[in-house]
Amino acid sequence: NNSGIVSWQKSPCRFCGTGCGILVGVSGGRAVAVKGDPNCSVNKGLCCMKGYHSVQSLYAKDRLTKAKVRKNGQMVEVPIQEALDLVASKLKQTIESHGKDSVAIYGSGQWTIPDGYVASKLFKGCLGTNNVEANARLCMASAVTGFMTTFGIDEPMGCYEDMDHANVFITWGNNMAEMHPVLFSRMIANRKRRSNVRIIDFATRFTRTSQAADMSILFKPQTDLAVANAICYEIIRNDWVNWNFVNEHVSFHKGKTNIGYGTEDHFAFQDKGENISFAEYKQFLEDYTPEKVEKISGVPAKDIKYLAALYGDPSQKVTSFWCMGMNQHTRGTWINNLVYNIHLLVGKISTPGNSPFSLTGQPSACGTVREVGTLTHKLPHGVVMNEHDREMAARIWDVPVTNIDPKPTYHTVEMFRALDRGDIRFIWIQVTNPMVTMPNLRRYRNGAQKDDRFVVVSDVYPTPTTDVADVILPAAMWIEQEGLFGNSERRTQHFAQIVDPPGDAMSDTWQIIEVARRLGFDKQFPWSEENYIEKIWEEYRLFHAGPKHEMAPYKVLRERSGVQWPFVNGKETRWRFNPKHDPACTNGKDFDFYGKKDNRAWIWARPYEPAAESPDDEYNFWLNTGRVIEHWHTGSMTRRIPVLHNAVPSAYVELNPEDAAELGVVNGEMVRIISRRGQIIIPAQINGRGVPPRGMVFVPFFDESYLVNEVTLDAFCPISKQPDYKKCAVRLEKV
Ligand code: SF4
Repeated sequence: NNSGIVSWQKSPCRFCGTGCGILVGVSGGRAVAVKGDPNCSVNKGLCCMKGYHSVQSLYAKDRLTKAKVRKNGQMVEVPIQEALDLVASKLKQTIESHGKDSVAIYGSGQWTIPDGYVASKLFKGCLGTNNVEANARLCMASAVTGFMTTFGIDEPMGCYEDMDHANVFITWGNNMAEMHPVLFSRMIANRKRRSNVRIIDFATRFTRTSQAADMSILFKPQTDLAVANAICYEIIRNDWVNWNFVNEHVSFHKGKTNIGYGTEDHFAFQDKGENISFAEYKQFLEDYTPEKVEKISGVPAKDIKYLAALYGDPSQKVTSFWCMGMNQHTRGTWINNLVYNIHLLVGKISTPGNSPFSLTGQPSACGTVREVGTLTHKLPHGVVMNEHDREMAARIWDVPVTNIDPKPTYHTVEMFRALDRGDIRFIWIQVTNPMVTMPNLRRYRNGAQKDDRFVVVSDVYPTPTTDVADVILPAAMWIEQEGLFGNSERRTQHFAQIVDPPGDAMSDTWQIIEVARRLGFDKQFPWSEENYIEKIWEEYRLFHAGPKHEMAPYKVLRERSGVQWPFVNGKETRWRFNPKHDPACTNGKDFDFYGKKDNRAWIWARPYEPAAESPDDEYNFWLNTGRVIEHWHTGSMTRRIPVLHNAVPSAYVELNPEDAAELGVVNGEMVRIISRRGQIIIPAQINGRGVPPRGMVFVPFFDESYLVNEVTLDAFCPISKQPDYKKCAVRLEKV
């Protein structure tokens, strides 16, 4: 019913990394309806249930509208200017007493591009600390290190259009039906349209994706490493290698092995790799015959051979999808490398339909975290370790180059460990909820609550993270401000302010600007409230000049439902490294992997190594965690949308029916999940939407009433520093 709606205005959806275009219906100054944007090539008018109901997340009763400050242990409302004064003075005092690296800012892949940009400019450029991190470290850092080690440059070479061209889809530990439902629908539509399309779900538990797939293959946790190597073994054994491609465009490498699960000397780890010959690589794969790998992985050798044949058959166009299942992995970088190995051996890459495609979870994990570079080692389009990148940043930011520290400081897990130790005394948390999402949560919650720690939280609703705050700043939600996101397929998406924020709420960008000016950085933050997003965007674009990264001008972004970079001479780039599409290719060949000095993509010999913690006699189950379609992230918004909340009102533990029978548990009965780190009591779900294999349980993390991260393990991939939320050992008790 469109009655009473006075305008429909375009925006990207603010939930997942798919980046669907929506039209927001406005009536009486309120956002009252959503429909899919038919002009957006991502979703062509379709949304999922979160998108359709997204604007209701603006209007729940307990919306934070006033600043609050802790006084004598109680949070009391204060004028926002007073709260901002306090934030600035605490920041200054902490640096004076404890040094520049005692302050930190922690944001997210839900930060807009301007949010992340001003955070980085203030902390890295003006204050001189590299203590800038974002929760995307917890969800896609392994994808970045995977891209960097294989291609020397970040972000997917393909685009969503691959889904219309491919006829084989292989989802690697990726429940797309729930996590990327609109993309999943596009794949299903392709299968309906054409007779030869197959979807193979390769996963550790049976999900809605497995249900809809043509074939479901289950593997034991962590053994995806072994299976990927076995696929490569089979491709070589059957001579399905695309020799023209391999000889021209690939080089072979080996890295360090037995690399542990997260070293304290966390930036000492380097994996530059060592050249090996194809013969040495082939020799390495001898340990991964399908028959040997069947014993490790539980995947029948015939299924491994079938997967290899799909990749190897030159008549098939194959797209592989993955997301958290591969990235939240103590060998996350390696498994990303290994799936690229498969595509590179058969030359199925960078052409329509042939695509190893790493999806993101959050709306601007790519735009803000990867492109702006809101990670400790990063700068916009560069890294702090590189002198040229520091000089460019100093020039654009108008700060002395000596301000920018060439050494990274703390990645996310280390940042919260530093807060626990007292090396960090001040932390500003924006647009994320770490007191729900940090693995081994109790350690980090206790750390944040210690005396002499000062925690500032900018958010829209009360959460377990605002519970530990000393200052709460009310934030504007996405369409209550102007901003930009960047989705999984290198698409930058602009949105205008559509409605007013409530009370004293303001954008995270403007909060940072207010604090920066109080600290005396007026010259670096000179913008006015009327057009600061345009000015910030045009300044930020300077970092990306050149054919490899060129971003679209503000005016173009305002008009269109997203633009894919590199945007060169008015043209978007759909397939990188392919000179037919990518203007950055200059080597005169049919592909140019220009991210690497040898202009080749790297195949890595990466072994199977076991998980950091596996079930044993005492803790005999695997615990796997993740999401459901109805809820976004920690549920702080979607649990306040009645239709989504009523659909899945609380978290649960998914059990295999035989395990449930052995425990004597029926649907809805309470189960205690115990690990070496903590325990939770949670209702059982049997034969629900997902079925784990025997010996595994699954818990979604959206519900703050059942904090599954009390139980999870904070081991991480030593290359990407991304923790593994998909596997640790637990035992179960009926309560
Ligand atoms: Fe929003 Fe993602 Fe759903 Fe699209 S698929 S409507 S971006 S939540």
